[in-house]
This record gives sequence, structure tokens and C-alpha cells, in this order.
Amino acid sequence: MNGRVYLVGAGPGDPGLLTLRAAEVIAAADFIAIDALVSKEIAAMIPETAEVVYVGKRSGKHAVPQTEINQLLIEHAQDGKRVVRLKGGDPFVFGRGGEEAQDLIEAGVPVEIVPGISSAIAGPAYARIPVTHRDHSTSVTLVTAHESGTSTGINWPALAQLDGTIVFLMGFANLPVIVERLIACGMPGNRAVAVISKATRPDQQTVTGTLETIERQVADAELEAPALIVVGNVVRLHDILHWSENESIPESPSMPPTIVSRF
Ligand code: SAH
Repeated sequence: MNGRVYLVGAGPGDPGLLTLRAAEVIAAADFIAIDALVSKEIAAMIPETAEVVYVGKRSGKHAVPQTEINQLLIEHAQDGKRVVRLKGGDPFVFGRGGEEAQDLIEAGVPVEIVPGISSAIAGPAYARIPVTHRDHSTSVTLVTAHESGTSTGINWPALAQLDGTIVFLMGFANLPVIVERLIACGMPGNRAVAVISKATRPDQQTVTGTLETIERQVADAELEAPALIVVGNVVRLHDILHWSENESIPESPSMPPTIVSRF
């Protein structure tokens, strides 16, 4: 009998942002392969009866290679198990969920996708930055900035022309390259930028500035990964929107004050 693999998005960290379907699937799982980006509060929801393997890079240990992860998922599903592949954010936003789903389907394993709330949208929201706004931005572009230097496949001239919002994921270590490329390709140096570290977690930190100031500010604030880089005029709304003060919604524990804000 074939089991099934659920490719599940765990959201950006705050357990309140886990979907109902994700919680249901986790509660019924026999085997869970979990990413480093999944928060410990969510990991704590895994039932004791489920076997858990950590496949992401954690505390200096190497990540399990992708082919090995896929093999684990396939073998357990073929044993008739309910297998959950738990990923940070949404499984199809730079999470290799697409590749994993392809491999599983090729191996004849039934797959269900459980979308998650992506850090690319929720991270800025928790930092009081709406990724679109009728007066400031009519588009949002998500970019993986994992590659560095000249080898990157990113179309920098096209990005530098955009007036909308650009959210860079996996770009924290490459912040100097991102800033340099955007300015070299014509983006104004006073374009607003935010760096949001550990978004939606209790130790979330946000630094806002401009392309010209952000590198120094991030260094001074000693921000750590994981972090999002948000470029665009919507970042200026950060100083205006204080939605956590809305009394009708219980205040999230993960809304610490901005540590630096300067334009
Ligand atoms: N599938 C995930 C993204 C995976 S790529 C999603 O939809 O959110 C990994 C990158 O996501 C990190 O390098 C970082 O840029 C970003 N990221 C994920 N969780 C984050 C968080 N809680 N705070 C800040 N950045 C985060």
C-alpha cells in the first residue's frame, strides 16, 4: 500500500501563522522531515508517535543532500506511512518544493501540497510594511539572491528599473552585492530599504534605511540570518503603521520595536 507525502508550509515562525490544514496533517503524521527554518514552537507540535528527521542545516551540521531527502520521503511513503515534509514559509517559494513534488510524482508517490504563509509577505507585514499599496507600489517581485558576485543569473538592470517592491530572500550575506548592483544599474541611492531578521519570531529585528545607508546600519545592529531584504517606497510606511496596537487583536509576542529607522 502506498502512503502519501504532504509537502507542508510551516509559515515564517510564529505558530499562530500555521494553517489549520498544516496542523491537522502534522498531528496525523507517521514520519516528518523537517527544515532548519521551521520554528521550535511548531516542531513542538509534532506528536511523539511520529519519527522526526532534521534535514536542514542546523547548528553547524551539514544539510542532508536533496537526493537523500527525496529517497527518505519515497521509501517511507512506499512503506504506507503518512509522510510530512515540513518547510519554512510556503513550500513553493524558493523552498525546492517544486523539485521534490516532481521527484515524488515520478516515483509514483501520491503528493498533497499544503501551502504556507511565506516569509516574503508575512515578514514585511510583521515589520509594518505592506508589500503593495495603491499610492506606493503596484507590484512585488520575489528574488533569490543566493548566488553572489558576477555569477548570478539575476537581471539587475530590469530590477533596478522597478518602482514596485522587491523582496530578496537568501540574500542577507550578499547585501553588499545587492546594494552595489542596484545602484550601478541606476536605482536611486535614496530608495528605501528594510532588513528584517527572524521575522515573526519573538526576536524579530527590523532596520530601515536607504540603499546608501543600509549596509552600515545592518552591521551596527549586528543582525543575523534568516533575514529578508525589502527594497521600495513601501518601506517608508513602517514608521506610520502601528497595527499591533489595535486592541481588537491580541498583541502578537513577536512585534518588538524597530531598532533603527533612518531615511
Ligand atoms: N519557503 C520559504 C523561503 C525559503 S528560502 C518562505 O516562503 O518563506 C530561505 C530564505 O527565506 C531565508 O534565507 C530568508 O531570506 C527567508 N526567510 C525564511 N523565514 C524567515 C524569517 N522568519 N525571517 C526572515 N527571513 C526568513
